[in-house]
Amino acid sequence: MGDRKSYVVGRHADGHEIKLGASIVRVHNGNGYVYAAILRDISWRIELLDDLSEQARLDPLTGQLNRRSFLEIAENECERANRHGTNLACLFFDIDRFKALNDCFGHSSGDIILQKFAELARCDLRTIDSFCRWGGEEFVALLPQTDLESAILVAERVRRTVEDHTFALPDTRTAKLTVSIGVSDATGPGIDISEQIRQADDALYKAKQQGRNRVIASIGGQPEQIA
Ligand code: GH3
Ligand code: MG
Ligand code: MG
Repeated sequence: MGDRKSYVVGRHADGHEIKLGASIVRVHNGNGYVYAAILRDISWRIELLDDLSEQARLDPLTGQLNRRSFLEIAENECERANRHGTNLACLFFDIDRFKALNDCFGHSSGDIILQKFAELARCDLRTIDSFCRWGGEEFVALLPQTDLESAILVAERVRRTVEDHTFALPDTRTAKLTVSIGVSDATGPGIDISEQIRQADDALYKAKQQGRNRVIASIGGQPEQIA
């Protein structure tokens, strides 16, 4: 069983698999010591713990990674890029004029938009890319082994997907929206993940200043318009 958090897998009399916690006891039977294992079905407890740790990793509204678990993954990706001397790109997304959308359609429609936006953006990324809800209507993606040029193409793809999509809302209403995206890229060794996210955020700020619905890349730490 290893440590105390583990379990052994058993099979119930009816055939289904169960997770068992074991306590080992030592008893003297007159001739010497014997050991007995007391097995208890703790499947429900293990499943509950799995559910809780999954919930702790995910944003409840969108089902994407939350900021904390994303940063844990990002630190590991950063270490890997630094070790192998590979590229790591960062995309910072912020939905344009989201407050006005909430005001116009209501907060619960705003929530539906956030869920669909997250789904669309996630679909435009690769499986190995990490994507999180940074907070509110802001999302961040980390693209391992991706140079700036490719990261800009990905950002532009997401921007267009969102621009082209018609968001379905309750009562047959629909909404159109756009997203601004800041992009940064760095090559290991020496990547600092906080600095890289900050550069993408700076580029995003420029995208907002320049009129929104655009991708701006940080080149040498300075934001430059791309699309
Ligand atoms: P900009 O183009 O400059 O980004 O404008 P904006 O209106 O998107 O930016 P601002 O930061 O002023 O507004 C963000 C809004 O997002 C305000 C807040 O009420 C809304 N918001 C944040 N979290 C949620 C959420 O979970 N659900 C909904 N429906 N709205 C949210
Ligand atoms: Mg914002
Ligand atoms: Mg916004």
